[in-house]
Amino acid sequence: MSFPKYVFISYSSKDIVKVNKIVELLESMNVEYWKAPEKIPAGSSYANEIVNAIENCSLFLVILSENAQSSIWVEKEIDCALSSAKEVIPYNIDNCVLVNAFKFYLNNVQMIHDTPGSPEGIDKLKGFLRPLQPAESKSSGTNVNIPMAPEQKIPAPKAPDPKAAAKKSNLKTATQIDSNTVVKRYQRGMRMDDMWNLNRVPVVCKHCGGSLTHVAGGVYVCNECKAENYDDFRTIRNYLIEHGPCSALELSKALGIPMKIIKNWQKSQ
Ligand SMILES: [Zn+2]
Repeated sequence: MSFPKYVFISYSSKDIVKVNKIVELLESMNVEYWKAPEKIPAGSSYANEIVNAIENCSLFLVILSENAQSSIWVEKEIDCALSSAKEVIPYNIDNCVLVNAFKFYLNNVQMIHDTPGSPEGIDKLKGFLRPLQPAESKSSGTNVNIPMAPEQKIPAPKAPDPKAAAKKSNLKTATQIDSNTVVKRYQRGMRMDDMWNLNRVPVVCKHCGGSLTHVAGGVYVCNECKAENYDDFRTIRNYLIEHGPCSALELSKALGIPMKIIKNWQKSQ
């Protein structure tokens, strides 16, 4: 596989201190990760970036806690991960009991419990992370420190923008950035389901990462390699033209497009 393997980290901003310790563990093991909001390029679509990041991750790690369970974003990210058939690892940092919404998603998923003062939970987590280490660092992964240990140093926080921090604190989780339409809609009370039902448009060229120019309905041409990129609806249409009629489930599997988007496309026809 040419794609770098990475872990998607789903979390509540209220747990950022503990989350940073887990990030520190991943970094010590040279395991790549994706975590909002710092991995989202300025000006790009928040929903798009999150969905792409989840769909391409090798492992979905949810930092589970009371805080995470009151975050609609964490819930939606889990929903997206499961509908993309991702391996989901809940890492329970505060021994919280699953609320109904999370029971619904995580009932059949093995949970890891952080065990303060004992390496047991961290060792289990490391077991899931090891297959994602680049070959040359696999041997060094066994000696990493236990990141949840209280004496462990916390990495210096990245210079926070006080304005953004103030805005963030009004929201449910850290996974939002301001000046972003999704967040604005969220604040207006938009149903978050709608977010996943959008006809997702490509942000950058999937072949080379170049910028895109919209040329026709659902078609975008890369300014670098000139390849055509398509939005989801156009991708569905192209597939049907090429392969003939097929079920929504087949489409979803063949194209890696969530069922919700395919059903939304059917409705639009
Ligand atoms: Zn390109």
